[in-house]
Amino acid sequence: FLTVTDIRKTEGSLTVVQDVRFSQQEHERLAIVGESGSGKSTLLKMIAGYTQPDAGQVLFLDKRVLGPDEQLIMGHPGIAYLSQHFELRNNYRVEEVLAYANQLPDEAAQKIFDICRITPFLKRKTHQVSGGEKQRIALARLLVGAPRLLLLDEPYSNLDLIHKGILKTVVQDIGEQLGLTVLLVSHDPMDTLPWADRILVMRGGVIVQTGTPEEVYRCPANEYVGGLFGDYN
Ligand code: ATP
Ligand code: MG
Repeated sequence: FLTVTDIRKTEGSLTVVQDVRFSQQEHERLAIVGESGSGKSTLLKMIAGYTQPDAGQVLFLDKRVLGPDEQLIMGHPGIAYLSQHFELRNNYRVEEVLAYANQLPDEAAQKIFDICRITPFLKRKTHQVSGGEKQRIALARLLVGAPRLLLLDEPYSNLDLIHKGILKTVVQDIGEQLGLTVLLVSHDPMDTLPWADRILVMRGGVIVQTGTPEEVYRCPANEYVGGLFGDYN
């Protein structure tokens, strides 16, 4: 479904992502966990098609979508990317933000609004909703484009416990009810352990461990992973 091979990105003298390779099956819930600065966002941006790799390639549905020589087209058909620093333009009605949804049958659009829990806000303007609500609106806007793969960068990091809980249900429903494949990045293992089928742990631009939540939690490959997952002794 998604294959990333030996992808690398350098910024000046710093290698931010170093020869990372992994693949993701369709419907597999995959999480990338690592400390701040470990290269998670840079990796996700290369998969999303917003940052050019210096080496390696990204294959999606068996098609090469990005390498060092392809032109950067700021996104790929079929891949939706919710940035860590997403923005919604102010003073638009939420319905206008979701104008794409007009192209969907009413039922399909309503299903997306219900899954994202944004139906109550459709008539409001974007400055009249909270940060957590805004994020779910941004998510709905991506979903109306009918992607197959959803990339989420730190979706839970700016949310209180209540909105975090809502968003976790939303992410679960996106997988189960819309059939999307989700790749989720987080610095907090606790946000990934109950959800993920498999976790990739990153440090310094490198994947240091790959395993099921059970494996990385119970058998951390080193002290760093143990420290992150809190069960190393
Ligand atoms: P966080 O959890 O804080 O979001 P991250 O794992 O997403 O961190 P990245 O944003 O990918 O980390 O950054 C990885 C490293 O690359 C950091 O040391 C960062 O300072 C550096 N970096 C990222 N983008 C650039 C850039 N455009 N120019 C220079 N350095 C960069
Ligand atoms: Mg980041």
